[in-house]
Amino acid sequence: MPAPPTDSFHRKIDYLRLSITDRCNLRCVYCMPEDGVPKCEHSDMLSYEEIVRLARISISMGISKVRITGGEPLVRKEALSLCESIASVPGLRSLSLTTNGILLSDFAEGLFRAGVRRVNISLDTLKPERFAQIARKDLFSRVWAGIMAAQRVGFSPVKLNTVIMAGVNDDEIEDLARLTFRFPFHVRFIELMPFEQCDYQSLFIPAFEILDRLRRVGRLVESSAGESNGPALHYAFKGAMGKIGIISPVSDHFCPSCNRLRLTADGKLRTCLFSVDETDLRELLRRGASDGEIAAVMLAAINKKPEKHHLSNPVFRKCISRPMFSIGG
Ligand code: SAM
Ligand code: SF4
Repeated sequence: MPAPPTDSFHRKIDYLRLSITDRCNLRCVYCMPEDGVPKCEHSDMLSYEEIVRLARISISMGISKVRITGGEPLVRKEALSLCESIASVPGLRSLSLTTNGILLSDFAEGLFRAGVRRVNISLDTLKPERFAQIARKDLFSRVWAGIMAAQRVGFSPVKLNTVIMAGVNDDEIEDLARLTFRFPFHVRFIELMPFEQCDYQSLFIPAFEILDRLRRVGRLVESSAGESNGPALHYAFKGAMGKIGIISPVSDHFCPSCNRLRLTADGKLRTCLFSVDETDLRELLRRGASDGEIAAVMLAAINKKPEKHHLSNPVFRKCISRPMFSIGG
C-alpha cells in the first residue's frame, strides 16, 4: 500500500473519521440543542455508494485507519453494511466506531462480524438520573447494556469517553476511573470543547485538574498507548485491568501529532476539527469527477491542513462553523 500522505508540517495523515449521519437519538447538552436540529435533505447526505467510494479513494491514498462516527452512526439503517463494505477495502488496517451505545446491544455482534474491532462508547455518568439530564433521554440502562455487549462480543479495547463538566459530572471522575479495576476498559476523560451548544466558560475543567482528582483514586503510572497513536495521554492504576486516558484538546493541544482527516455526512472534507475550512467532495462526486481527480483535491486539502488550532485565543472561539454532531467528534 502507498505510504500515507504528509502535510506541509511533515505530519503523516493516515486516519479518517467518517461521519455517516448527522442524526442522533440523544440530545447531549454539550452537543445538540434540546429540540434537535432541522433535518437535512436526504439528497444532501452522501449515499451508501458515495461513502464507500470516498473511503476506497482515501485508503488507496495511504489512509489505513477509518473510524465511523456521526451524529449517532447506528441510527443510519445501512450502518452495518457500510462497515462491512469499508472493512473489505484492501489496505485498511483498522476499522473502528464511536457510538453513544444506545443501540449497541443490538448491533455489537453484527459490527464485530462486519470487521469493526474497536468501539468508543460515550459515557458521561454512572447515574441514570444524571444521564437523563445530560443526554436529555432516560436511557442509561441501554448504554450500559451496550457496553456489556461490546465487552462480551470481544471488542478490544472497549473505550469509554467521558466529557467532564464542572458541577455536572466532575464529582464522578473517581468512580468512572474505578471502573478500570473491574473491567479492562480504557476510560478516557475529555476536556469540554467550546461548541456553541454549551456554556463552555462555566463548565470547562482543564486536564491537569482532572489528573489531580484521579490521583486521589490510587497511584497513577504512565502507560503505553498500545496500538493507538491518538491524542490521549495514557495512564493506569497499579493493579487495574484497564487504562485511563486524558484528552486535552483545549489546554494542551495535540496538533503537532494530528494525523486526522474528517469527512462529514454531507460530503465535506475537514482537515482540522476547529477550522472553518471545508472541501466539498460531494460536489466533485456528483459532477462525475474521476477517482484520480478526487484524490488530487484531497491531497491539496491535506497540504493546507492548519498547523494548529487557536482555541486558546478567545477571538477564535466563536469561529467554529459546525456543531459537533455535524462533524463527528
Ligand atoms: N454519537 C456518538 C457519540 O456520542 O459517541 C458519536 C458522535 S459524538 C459527536 C463524538 C464524541 O464527541 C462523543 O464522545 C462526544 O462526547 C464528543 N463531544 C460532543 N460534543 C463535545 C464537546 N462540546 N466537547 C467535548 N466532546 C464533545
Ligand atoms: Fe448525539 Fe453523540 Fe452528540 Fe450526544 S454527543 S448528541 S450522542 S452526536
